[in-house]
Amino acid sequence: MSIFTDNEEAAKIMARAMATASGLRTDRPDECIQPWMRDARIAVAAISENAAAIAELSELRARVVEAQSERDVWHRSAHADRARSLAAEAQNAKLVEALEKARDFLKNAPIESGYCCCGDIIESHNIGSGHSPVDAVVYAANQHVESIDATLAEINAAKGNG
Ligand SMILES: [Zn+2]
Repeated sequence: MSIFTDNEEAAKIMARAMATASGLRTDRPDECIQPWMRDARIAVAAISENAAAIAELSELRARVVEAQSERDVWHRSAHADRARSLAAEAQNAKLVEALEKARDFLKNAPIESGYCCCGDIIESHNIGSGHSPVDAVVYAANQHVESIDATLAEINAAKGNG
């Protein structure tokens, strides 16, 4: 970074030196010119040869600064993405745990309504009913278990892909 700052400084010095040099009398032979004036003209000539290089460095410096700020923006956004992704993962883990508990409860809890899906009382079912009695609540619970299992399988598959 300091090298570019130095070059900016060099460009300013060059501009001042050029202004001074243009005011020097140049119609005398070199031997008549005071040594410091000759040195100044030589220095100005050398500096102006480097003017293009200095301008190029200034442009390069601007591009470096721009690239750095782009990188900083990208870096911050990458950190924010990572934080969001970690938070989502933690939430997912909690949801999966809750779903697993709900499924285990629905599967194992002694829940029965005593009513068949057809609306009749299970106790009163007989051959004449035309079907085996299925407890309405147990049936609904099994549907929920299937739905939860499908969701958990989807989550596991997504984890495998991610
Ligand atoms: Zn029935």
